[in-house]
Amino acid sequence: MSKSVLFSGFTIVTPHDDSPVSVIENGYCSVFRSHIVYVGTSKEEAEVALKASGAEVWFVYEGKNKILCPTFANAHAHTPMSIFRNIADDTSLQDWLFGEIIPREDKMISGDFYYGNLLTLAEMIEGGTACAANMYDGQIEIAKGAIETGFRVQQTVMGKTFKDGVWSVDRKNVEDFLAFIKEQNTELIKPSLLVHSIYLYPEEFYKPLSEVAKEFDLPVSVHISETKTEIENCVKSYGVSPVVKLDEAGLLCDTTVAAHCVHLDDQDRMILSDRKVWVAHNPSSNMKLASGLADLFKMQKAGVRLCLGTDGAASNNNQDMFQEMKLASFIAKGSTCDPTLLSASEVFTMATRNGYLACGFEDCGIIDKGYRADIQIIDYDCPQMWPLGNPVSSLVYSCGPKCVESVMIDGNFVLYKHELKTIDLEKVKEETKKTMMRLK
Ligand SMILES: [Zn+2]
Repeated sequence: MSKSVLFSGFTIVTPHDDSPVSVIENGYCSVFRSHIVYVGTSKEEAEVALKASGAEVWFVYEGKNKILCPTFANAHAHTPMSIFRNIADDTSLQDWLFGEIIPREDKMISGDFYYGNLLTLAEMIEGGTACAANMYDGQIEIAKGAIETGFRVQQTVMGKTFKDGVWSVDRKNVEDFLAFIKEQNTELIKPSLLVHSIYLYPEEFYKPLSEVAKEFDLPVSVHISETKTEIENCVKSYGVSPVVKLDEAGLLCDTTVAAHCVHLDDQDRMILSDRKVWVAHNPSSNMKLASGLADLFKMQKAGVRLCLGTDGAASNNNQDMFQEMKLASFIAKGSTCDPTLLSASEVFTMATRNGYLACGFEDCGIIDKGYRADIQIIDYDCPQMWPLGNPVSSLVYSCGPKCVESVMIDGNFVLYKHELKTIDLEKVKEETKKTMMRLK
């Protein structure tokens, strides 16, 4: 399909870095190769921008009753976990993780990571997501699948090994993954260092991990303060909260993505704000595992940077960012009896622009000239979204994956008029079913 596209006559919705989400009615958006070259209300200027970029012909995508907006960047996911969907539910995080998930993960082989990841990417794309911060082992298989699909991933790599009951730092694993990314010559994959949580490794191991992150200039991906048990055990062992302990180890900075952050005190919020950590809020997972309700209002007030994630499909049990946006906003309102909290504009920005920034893709997540063309098309000509009313409210409170008509990533359509263009979904379904039966 043509690398030049003129999106014509759309309702264009976009977040900004320092102002609320804005709307352009009857707007035009020109895409040349991987980038947006025009956004505005003039068809003539949209064509001039395409010609000036070097385009001779272009494909016209008509926008009657359609919204054009940025795709979602899911700031906390475990993509291969789709193979564990609906096999261990209605239990606590501790029983779920140590009793059901880790014993199965220990039996995973490379094809499980590859196809489990692709299944999740298919689901994400059909739901308007084009980017994920993915915390999981199997980085090469996952990165390969993402590159083949044309999907953006901030992918973790392990900087450690566990052998004969002893943890040790594993620089080679990091070096191999960085070399792999370099070889691929791709804009789609960015690395990060996997530091699961404060409760999975011995105390002396956190500082060496922090040194690995600094040595290779890697962002850190970590779960923090997800449950009350985590806080109690941390205080019992170290006398301080998980946030304080991880900060002492040097693991919190402006590229760190910290998932959950449900149970925080004022000092924790101040540290997260001072270090400019990205907090990935996971409302579905926190409620399903009964971890608790993160206090978004207090985090906002403290100046903590917020984004949004689904967590893995085994604790959610889907990857629907529309659901996360709606839940995040409704929980903030319902738990405080204040309907003004976490507005549609704020939560849409968390799910799009902020997610991209958290994942390290700074030129994505805004519909404007010069940004990369990561775009979703929403068809609002359906009972669920009709009449449209405020387009931003409609996206957050009424829309769902079935309204996503097309998804473009880096200028390529990966979903076009509801058809996946880069994933053989039947093959992926067949392989993941086999994996699920084997690991049952
Ligand atoms: Zn997680």
